[in-house]
Amino acid sequence: MSTLRFHALKESLFHKPLPVEEKVRRSELFGTNVFNENTMRQYLTKDAFKGVMNAIKFGKKIDRSIADQVSSSMKDWALSKGVTHYTHWFQPLTGTTAEKHDAFFETIGEGMAIEKFGGGQLVQQEPDASSFPSGGIRNTFEARGYTAWDPTSPAFIYGTTLCIPTIFVAYTGEALDYKTPLLRALNAVDQAATDVCRYFDKNVKKVTSSLGWEQEYFLIDKLLASSRPDITLTGRTLLGHTSAKGQQLDDHYFGAIPGRALNFMRDLETECMLLGIPVKTRHNEVAPNQFELAPIFEEANLAVDHNSLLMDIMGRVASKHNFKVLLHEKPFAGINGSGKHNNWSLSTDTGVNLLAPGKTPMSNLQFLTFFINTIKAVHEYEELLRASIASASNDHRLGANEAPPAIISVFIGQQLTKVLEELEGVTKGKLSPKEKTELKLNVVGKIPDVLLDNTDRNRTSPFAFTGNKFEFRAVGSLANCGNPMTVLNTIVAKQLQDFKMEVDVLINKKDLKKDEAIFNVLREYIKSTKAILFEGNGYGKEWEEEAKKRGLSNNKSTPEALKAKISDKVIKLFEDMNVMSKVESEARYEIEMEAYIMHIQIEARVLGDVARNHIVPTAVKYQNILIENVKGLKEIFDKKYASVSKEQINLIEEISSHIEAINANVTKMINARREANVIEDLEKKAMAYCFEIKPLFDEIRYHCDKLELLIDDEIWPLTKYRELLFTR
Ligand code: ADP
Ligand code: MG
Repeated sequence: MSTLRFHALKESLFHKPLPVEEKVRRSELFGTNVFNENTMRQYLTKDAFKGVMNAIKFGKKIDRSIADQVSSSMKDWALSKGVTHYTHWFQPLTGTTAEKHDAFFETIGEGMAIEKFGGGQLVQQEPDASSFPSGGIRNTFEARGYTAWDPTSPAFIYGTTLCIPTIFVAYTGEALDYKTPLLRALNAVDQAATDVCRYFDKNVKKVTSSLGWEQEYFLIDKLLASSRPDITLTGRTLLGHTSAKGQQLDDHYFGAIPGRALNFMRDLETECMLLGIPVKTRHNEVAPNQFELAPIFEEANLAVDHNSLLMDIMGRVASKHNFKVLLHEKPFAGINGSGKHNNWSLSTDTGVNLLAPGKTPMSNLQFLTFFINTIKAVHEYEELLRASIASASNDHRLGANEAPPAIISVFIGQQLTKVLEELEGVTKGKLSPKEKTELKLNVVGKIPDVLLDNTDRNRTSPFAFTGNKFEFRAVGSLANCGNPMTVLNTIVAKQLQDFKMEVDVLINKKDLKKDEAIFNVLREYIKSTKAILFEGNGYGKEWEEEAKKRGLSNNKSTPEALKAKISDKVIKLFEDMNVMSKVESEARYEIEMEAYIMHIQIEARVLGDVARNHIVPTAVKYQNILIENVKGLKEIFDKKYASVSKEQINLIEEISSHIEAINANVTKMINARREANVIEDLEKKAMAYCFEIKPLFDEIRYHCDKLELLIDDEIWPLTKYRELLFTR
């Protein structure tokens, strides 16, 4: 065994579960490091408290004197907890979180110092932003960017730092992060949905979008992971033969959680409790060493922040437990990768979940209104929804028969399919009293209460209705949920706006009653959105063919998928809904395309290096041993040697052919990269990386993996799949 692999394996055997103590009840720990409503009540003056609550609930501006009071109280609270620094915490388009710490400490002359944190520092900061992706925004406009306090997401303490969630924008106002467009989208859906709610209940003043994510991940022994250059640099294995035992026995899913992993989870959950992240569920996933974590759902902006924060904390807690967390969508070939389901719903300030069937015909009509409008929105913008989850790493997972395909469709289950069929038959225009009664009693009135327990579960659907929410299942495990949540809320907002207009026209111009008008519009929606509804097997080849006939998009790669983001239709959508300007949409497209190119480029370099500098030399070494051996056999057996060394000679030949193939393909890949790198046009360049360079990965990997089976385990340089996946 190579020295590196040997030591990593040996050391990993000493990695025992780290003791974890839980003395305090979780409910008592919950939110203790968050400047939440409770803490604010204690620390803020009445005026300041009211100011912040108005900002949170109604988006009111916080004036400077209030900000001064809040910052001062925040500082007192933080100091009482041993905090020394503060930071504006934000989510730039790099996909990670960013922070730059400043101490509260300030000198005031004469060798004296105090702790200071003013309103100005709370409200706005100017990090040197020139190294964050801007998609050309800062070049064309102004060089600087700034972060601004988002009072709707509470400040929190991590370690000894007070973190203030902020948006990150260019000086000219363009968004440079995930949060800014998300907040605008949430605002848009609030307005549009509230307007529609008023058909049913005049008391509704606000509609909030909720998100409950489910995060899948792998836990790999830290030393074993760091013994592999591919995991270290790309977060996934670029080669490695499948282990004899993988997930075929299905013995990991929902099995007993291994001790070391469990202690990591408990530690992580404690951190989450302190930070107010309401994690609730944990279990083994399908693949060996794969797990899932899910919280209780929250308001979408907060849930997105919490997921970003979680991904960050996971890495740190894992390190303490001698693990490395892999959030990549496909860390290992041959076994399942990881995703992040996004459970989504809308609810009113009067406490009604708009995607849950109600108890009365009227509340069910409200449910059907939001349900059908969501379906229509997804139908109208399926290609954009696909684009919202596109990334180099998620390309491995979508359509690989373990996660939904790259085709977006909606699954609603048998019962609701029937309800829609009946509604489709509603008479055009005015309804007779008999028909109205019939609808009330037998269609709208009969959406069963038991729906929630009864909803069929089609795991192959990318967008499934699960009783009281939609579940967007195609989101990548590494993704910032802000991207898909911005798109989903925007398209639903737009759809609800259109719906309201259509209904109002029928009421005002055609003299229909409100519910008649609603039935009429819904009926037309049901007719026109059938193509997006699919109840069958999303993994099947037949679905691809069927979807094509239905006119649904099937963009399998990121460069193809991302194009939807800059279509005229989408640019207009974001402009109309005040979520993103044309410049912002185009900048995002550019950033994501560049990120794609960079990812494939890094992977290509790492793969070339590992294949040429680790695998080939090892193969040559082993081949030389075989050659020496055959020479020795010849000496001893003389003329008979050909019969005793036939297999050996075959092996030498086989190894040669793989070495040849690896070298030839690595050279081909380097040349393809050279050619791609001089392409000016972004789309063409990304296409070259996708269709000229990336396919060579499979070629190179195939031969490396074959060698792994032929070469002496003693000298194989890379930690093997069985070691990575079954060390616990
Ligand atoms: P699974 O999909 O694994 O069967 P569940 O459907 O029970 O699990 O719930 C998954 C997630 O859905 C949880 O994180 C939960 O918080 C979230 N969830 C439940 N209700 C809502 C809702 N109204 N809005 C958003 N998320 C929700
Ligand atoms: Mg789920």
